[in-house]
Amino acid sequence: MREIVILGSTGSIGVQALEIVAANPDKFRVIALASGSNNLPLLVEQAKKFGVGVIGTSADGALARDLAGQIQVIDGPNAATEIATITCDIVLNGITGSIGLGPTLAALGVGNKVALANKESLVAGGDLVMAFGRDRIIPVDSEHSALYQCFASGKENEVKQVILTASGGPFRDRADLSDVTLEQALAHPTWSMGPVVTINSATLMNKGLEIIEAHYLFDLPYSKISAVIHPQSVVHSMVEFIDGSTIAQASPPNMKGPIAYALGDGARVSKATAPVDWSKSHTWDFVPIDSNRFPAIDLARRCGELGGGLPAIFNAANEVAVEAFVKGKISFVQIVDIVEATVQALGGGSPITIRDLKDVSAIENDARIRAAQIIGERK
Ligand code: MG
Repeated sequence: MREIVILGSTGSIGVQALEIVAANPDKFRVIALASGSNNLPLLVEQAKKFGVGVIGTSADGALARDLAGQIQVIDGPNAATEIATITCDIVLNGITGSIGLGPTLAALGVGNKVALANKESLVAGGDLVMAFGRDRIIPVDSEHSALYQCFASGKENEVKQVILTASGGPFRDRADLSDVTLEQALAHPTWSMGPVVTINSATLMNKGLEIIEAHYLFDLPYSKISAVIHPQSVVHSMVEFIDGSTIAQASPPNMKGPIAYALGDGARVSKATAPVDWSKSHTWDFVPIDSNRFPAIDLARRCGELGGGLPAIFNAANEVAVEAFVKGKISFVQIVDIVEATVQALGGGSPITIRDLKDVSAIENDARIRAAQIIGERK
């Protein structure tokens, strides 16, 4: 029986993780949950359904009073970080955004393993996270889970390059992106995900973040990480070895595969996700990415190569720009423009070395303020 802690339990990853637990009561037991403040009724319902003794929420006050004597509640801004330090077999971090970094570091700091769906932990604080050792992180991002699985078929010094697949998002074949609406950007063709990740998929910013994520997770130079558009989202990523052989991991798009694989620490969970149906015909396309229409990839790579605080600036500026787009303050194509302008404004001089979470927070604060200023100037 593996004891698991889920951070971000009311989000897309958290909800699917609990469905896996419900389907495998002999394998997994949830011992703690944490979520933000926007769906407390669901958090409480989850805790009761799974018999969880302790929950955390960033909302303050009322919930702890309501549940007094039933469930222990840790509340306030550090709740997820505290929940992450509960000793368990694995902490699933399904938080969206770089606020997930603190909980990731806290979990690792007490010796917990982390099933990491929060890619921003690695983008904003990759050196800090990986200092705990590669064997402590199991990726949940579908592409990185695929790479993790593909790596098993060769030795590390036999890897020539890794190829991340990208669905291309809803605008893969759209020439003019200047009049994209929010509704169009939120309509992802193959994956059902949270709103931020969905917008990031439409700009391909998500793939940019994932290139940086792969660099830290697998200790690969950027020259060995590329990305290709694969509209069907069935091949989740590939590893090319020095003998010319390429190993791919394939399954119809469904996050339950990578979530279950990570919760099981690499042990495969029976029927975690539906397999490819070979009684039907399939066509799998692979198309190079047009970097003129999708400048996010090259920008991410540049920030990643510069290292230091640049990836954190890149990510924080994007979070601000996405929020501005969702609120109708900027157009779709301005998202990457704003990020680029922020990186240029703050990225000069020698790269900043990140020593701790405080350094990351300071860099992100500067980036958020500068991105907001740039948005104000462009309106
Ligand atoms: Mg992904």
